[in-house]
Amino acid sequence: MSRFDGKVVIVTGAASGIGAATAKRFLDDGAFVVLNDIRRDKLVETSSGFDPGRVLIHSGDVSDRTYLQAMVDETVSRFDRIDVLVNNAGIEIIGPILGTSIESWHKIMQTNVDSVYFAIRSALPHLLKSKGSIINVSSTCGLGGDWYNSAYNASKGAVSNLTRALALELGISGVRVNAVAPGTTFTEMTKPIEQHAALMTKFLERIPLGRGAIPEEVASVIAFLASEDATFVNGVNLPVDGGLTASNGQPNATAFLADFGFASQSEQRL
Ligand code: NDP
Repeated sequence: MSRFDGKVVIVTGAASGIGAATAKRFLDDGAFVVLNDIRRDKLVETSSGFDPGRVLIHSGDVSDRTYLQAMVDETVSRFDRIDVLVNNAGIEIIGPILGTSIESWHKIMQTNVDSVYFAIRSALPHLLKSKGSIINVSSTCGLGGDWYNSAYNASKGAVSNLTRALALELGISGVRVNAVAPGTTFTEMTKPIEQHAALMTKFLERIPLGRGAIPEEVASVIAFLASEDATFVNGVNLPVDGGLTASNGQPNATAFLADFGFASQSEQRL
């Protein structure tokens, strides 16, 4: 018996990265999984090797709310129910505010925020019946600001606060709403940073664990939040960030201790 046997799970953005790892995790754990993304061929790749009877490949654009309603309707007509909705699909476009086009702003907000709001509206009648749960993929960028990333920061901040607000609204009905807030996770999205060694070093030196995550390390936390092990967890934005957000933002001064006349194993009053 696997922990999601008989459960029906929708994962958006399942062709790549965190979404692909999450879809596979739920399939490994016995669920029926609806895999959404724009690219159908990549979804076939993600689900290959799994029982086709437990898979529904549903390609389409999550920023289109008519599409989202069709995805939900077809999920229910194929599998009869929905237990878990994972709103993962997202994009990031960086740049200073005056360098960001109006089109990019709208694309980010539609892909990262409208998609989450309208997917929840469409799936909610079914989640209320199953007393299911929603997991939104926010970001550490939704918990604080970054340089030159205001549109993405705004979109993920919206996802994080939507998560909190709906946890309050829906909790009494037995539907839990949570988010994960990943830090740097090696996927297609981080490829441009990975190709720039000096910049990647800057990112990694801020992470107490000294490395970025692999997508499976985020997927396992999403699965935890959806599971029977998390039945009293509601409204959290759980950082999956190697400790990045444990910092108050001050620099790591360890390398400079000797300049103040003491070694790392001794103390000094400042
Ligand atoms: P990937 O680019 O690897 O995966 C995102 C997937 O979503 C892609 O397959 C992409 O398709 C798809 N997608 C984009 N727009 C749409 C759309 N309109 N409709 C349907 N599918 C769409 O990125 P990640 O796995 O890294 O990102 C997953 C989530 O995690 C995102 O919400 C991201 O913001 C978040 N996140 C990622 C972090 C990281 O460091 N990687 C850190 C924190 C949060 P296509 O490639 O064709 O655009």
